Amino acid sequence: MWTCSLCDRTFRQQNQHHYCGDRTIGHFLNGRSEKALALFDQLIEKISDIGPVKLHATKSMLVISADVGFAYVIQMGKEFIDVVLPFETPYEDNLCFRKIGKVPGSNDFNHHLRIMSADDFNAEVCSYLAKAYANGKAV
Ligand SMILES: [Zn+2]
Repeated sequence: MWTCSLCDRTFRQQNQHHYCGDRTIGHFLNGRSEKALALFDQLIEKISDIGPVKLHATKSMLVISADVGFAYVIQMGKEFIDVVLPFETPYEDNLCFRKIGKVPGSNDFNHHLRIMSADDFNAEVCSYLAKAYANGKAV
């Protein structure tokens, strides 16, 4: 086992490539299944293809931001990760979201995405990630 001294995450391989954030993120991610962590790292990689991202953790979720938060990892199961993308328009016409819910007290609709395998990062999901990323840029 190897523990990254910067983010406190533990890995099987020495110097394993990973998203390296601060310790709060390490604490959020430690103890998660290998599959969930792999999906998480793929998610960050996909979004990093669009532009630079920052991450921080709250007690219950990970916030992914450009200038402001635009995507939230709200749950990490053994076999999946749940990601929420808020949009001002409900995109009902889609194949990827499990559920769309109005956020109380705001104009946003939360779009719930469950990622279960690397194949789930398809063109549709990537286009919504890009849309969400654009919302994360300060105007
Ligand atoms: Zn690290």
